[in-house]
Amino acid sequence: MHHSDVLVIGAGPSGTAAASWLAQRGHSVTVVDRAVFPRFVIGESLLPVSMGHWEETGQLAALKAQNYAIKAGANFYRNGKMFDLAFGENYTQGWTWTWQVPRDHFDNVLAMEAQRLGARIHFGHEALRVDLEHGEGVELVTRHNGKEHHFTARFLIDSSGYGGTLAKLLDLHDVPAGNGRMALFAHVRESEEHRGKYADPMRISFEVLAQDLWFWSIPFSDGRTSLGFVGHHSHFDGPMGTGSGPTAMHRMLELPKAFSDRYQGVEFVHGPQVIREYTHYNQTLTGPRYVLTGNCAGFLDPVFSSGVAFATESGLLAAKLLDRQLKGEQVDWPNEYEAYIRQGADVFRSYIETWYNGDLQDVFFADDVEQSHKERIISVLAGYVWDRTNPYVSKHERAIPALAESLRLRDAERRKNLQRTT
Ligand SMILES: Cc1cc2nc3c(=O)[nH]c(=O)nc-3n(C[C@H](O)[C@H](O)[C@H](O)COP(=O)(O)OP(=O)(O)OC[C@H]3O[C@@H](n4cnc5c(N)ncnc54)[C@H](O)[C@@H]3O)c2cc1C
Repeated sequence: MHHSDVLVIGAGPSGTAAASWLAQRGHSVTVVDRAVFPRFVIGESLLPVSMGHWEETGQLAALKAQNYAIKAGANFYRNGKMFDLAFGENYTQGWTWTWQVPRDHFDNVLAMEAQRLGARIHFGHEALRVDLEHGEGVELVTRHNGKEHHFTARFLIDSSGYGGTLAKLLDLHDVPAGNGRMALFAHVRESEEHRGKYADPMRISFEVLAQDLWFWSIPFSDGRTSLGFVGHHSHFDGPMGTGSGPTAMHRMLELPKAFSDRYQGVEFVHGPQVIREYTHYNQTLTGPRYVLTGNCAGFLDPVFSSGVAFATESGLLAAKLLDRQLKGEQVDWPNEYEAYIRQGADVFRSYIETWYNGDLQDVFFADDVEQSHKERIISVLAGYVWDRTNPYVSKHERAIPALAESLRLRDAERRKNLQRTT
């Protein structure tokens, strides 16, 4: 039997952020993860807001030493037009860069740092059962090498990502969005010589292939590149794709025009792999002795790379609140945690919805968008979704549709004037 103040399920970015912060404040923290690290997970494009989180958790210096590829923005392509999103144009004061990372390596560094900072991590331990009324605390049973192990603690943080451990074990109301979207992705290896043939080869890029189908290209500093397609499953099961294997991936790779020859005939070093119906949210994020953080609390969509940002924001916030509670203070979890997390998620949800309905895409690819609008939108896309001084946060539901509409009217007016003068 192992006893600690806090038990964490999952050693991804969310679990290790929480564990690192709590361990440094004198709490004993045990983390269990069913995987043996390094392990593959998708989610390789980060947002600047997470840099501040890793600074607070003490994990940043070790990450900086890894020479990951710097992400100072991203290129978006549609029908031959390009939008250059630069985090340096951020309205909210904060980080203006981050990295694009192979998560197997990156998450391993995060986990090693959490251990160095005082958390105990048990790899290869799958959470099987939980008792939330075990005396004054909780008990978790894991399986490791075929044997059961018992862990007890005063509080449980579920950061088990796609595992959704507590949602499954406690039958919490985890709601799938049912939007029919899926992702098909793979890793390839590129030589420096091959990359050298292209302009700005390390720039992270996205190409719109249809209103609800897009492509990502994420080059890493270790020579691997992540390629992926996200959209409604009809694009994959229909005439454009033939399922999910290498043949389907090669056929899909013929679609992005901005990368027409870079990825032709590439060999896959991971995948292709498919994830279907990834959008979900959990109606219950906290209980008297537990909290859900990161992906297992909910996940919207990969389009703006918000997953890890939510993982670190929620992991760190949960840790701060729990620190207070363990010291005897009263914490109002529904307001201080659930409402706060949902507020940020709602902002991202609005942007994702306006991406897929075309409004945000029209804003990205419109000519001469006023700089002040651009800066405020870029702040949201850098992850600063809690800055309510930004009208593109505080009025997130209306801001993008209103701007898209005004740009369309302006362009229609310009076309009319042009016709009049010719
Ligand atoms: C197609 C796609 C593309 C994406 N792209 C991006 C992107 O570019 N940028 C981005 O920020 N996000 C992206 N995401 C989201 C990203 O993958 C997640 O949001 C992020 O990994 C969440 O981190 P986490 O710490 O919550 O969980 P994870 O990183 O998933 O870590 C959870 C850990 O829990 C462990 N675990 C699970 N079940 C159990 C169990 N029963 N017992 C013990 N351990 C367990 C797992 O082994 C794992 O190590 C993408 C998602 C999808 C579907």
